Amino acid sequence: FDGHALSDATRAFLAQPHRLLIGGQWVEGSAGTRTTRDPATGLALAEVQMGGAAEIDRAVAAARRAFAGPWRRMAAAERIALMQRLARILHDNARLLAELDVIDNGMPMFIAELTVANNVEMIDYYAGAILRIEGTTMAPPRHIAAAGEALTYSLREPVGVAGQIVPWNVPLSTAILKLAPALAAGCTVVMKPSEETPLSALALGQMILDAGFPDGVVNIVNGLGADAGAALAEHPGVDKISFTGSTATGRRIVQAALGNLKKVSLELGGKSPVVVMPDADLEIAIPGVAMATFFLQGQNCMAGTRIFVHQDIHDAFVEGLVAFAGGMALGHGLAPGTMLGPMISDAHTAKVMGHIEGAKAAGAVLVAGGRKLDRPGNFIEPTIFTATTPDMAVVREEIFGPVMAVRSFGGADLDAIAALANDTPYGLSGSVWTRDLSTAHRLVSRIRAGQVSINCHGAVGTNVPFGGFGQSGWGREFGQEGLDAYLETKAVTARL
Ligand code: NAD
Repeated sequence: FDGHALSDATRAFLAQPHRLLIGGQWVEGSAGTRTTRDPATGLALAEVQMGGAAEIDRAVAAARRAFAGPWRRMAAAERIALMQRLARILHDNARLLAELDVIDNGMPMFIAELTVANNVEMIDYYAGAILRIEGTTMAPPRHIAAAGEALTYSLREPVGVAGQIVPWNVPLSTAILKLAPALAAGCTVVMKPSEETPLSALALGQMILDAGFPDGVVNIVNGLGADAGAALAEHPGVDKISFTGSTATGRRIVQAALGNLKKVSLELGGKSPVVVMPDADLEIAIPGVAMATFFLQGQNCMAGTRIFVHQDIHDAFVEGLVAFAGGMALGHGLAPGTMLGPMISDAHTAKVMGHIEGAKAAGAVLVAGGRKLDRPGNFIEPTIFTATTPDMAVVREEIFGPVMAVRSFGGADLDAIAALANDTPYGLSGSVWTRDLSTAHRLVSRIRAGQVSINCHGAVGTNVPFGGFGQSGWGREFGQEGLDAYLETKAVTARL
């Protein structure tokens, strides 16, 4: 691995067969195998069994049986204990899980370590939330009360079998942030990881078995999106689908879900704005804004990629960004000090490079990066364009790569500044950089996005709701709202 050794646990994991988890058993897939590769070197990591519609069908049946059987009837204390045991197993295997996401996805180790710690916290958080699943009491309906004493209350019940479709950009985290609230709610799960990054979900599957979850509560079916993913989204035995991925695929999920009108949660793309006011503290704003774009080499749904900088500080700010970008170490995620890894695939690299060439041709000014490195793996330099205009594709389209589009603005009319920020069909994230908190809050109230930060960017947290306005999605994950997404409300009225 580019001269860097893996732990014994990761080596042992890679040497195992990589099958599908259905009904508590590791089974073969009928859709052949797919070689998963280290995107930093192109080296093959493992042959992974792929499932299709047949395996989705079996997994949904297993999840349905588990839902009707042991899982729904299990006492809350026992469900809590299982989830807490799973959290401890993740904690004890943090190195394995971090290494798997590094070699399968390409992310730097500092991000993988951070995400595993977050995942442990997330499972513990939702285990704790089980005891806070509460209904309410209310006045009985008028016509029932007219007939005598009555009682009306509401129950919160699991939505049923949840299908979960996961992307490749933060593989373990996007799996856990769907799985943990679903389990806490009492749902059973059929998860389809991304075909680009199947490994950490398989390790998670073994940990779920080791923790002692009943058979069929969690089923994991690797497969292609158009095959296993589509089959899951349209399956009539699935009550809810939770999807994280591109807006284009999100539209297909909605159409596939129409058949049985399953509940749908969508976490989609973004093109998030970053507003830098003239009084911003550049010491924190320059590295903060650079990381807003380049974190995860820009393969980050929250990436702040449209940077609006006040003209008074534009040149100094851009100079600082260029210096910061020039100092970012590109390399294998296992190498100490790596800040940026490779793009996930050849196809994705071609798309990102196409955007860079397109921006140049459209007249944007390239001030940093812009090249793919001449070495194995798809490494693209952190790239900064200035003099961008609202009509350019580099400003309008989600690139999902290390590409920043800077534009200067003048004046202090907050409505006009917010109009620049809101000129997008997306609405996932955003940030405002200023020392004046009054200005900051007034701008925040004008920006249409699900998560807006002040003097920081992408402040996701286990207990903090996350999701999109506009075409960035439907619903929220994380926090209480993330749990509510897996619960139905049942109103009960009794004549006494
Ligand atoms: P993608 O839409 O190509 O794939 C996501 C998942 O959907 C994969 O598991 C894939 O196999 C599956 N899939 C593909 N076609 C399908 C179909 N027809 N039916 C069912 N499933 C299908 O997205 P991606 O390239 O894996 O991820 C990148 C995208 O995800 C970006 O647009 C990014 O913004 C978005 N994303 C959003 C968030 C968020 O929380 N909002 C988080 C991470 C990534």
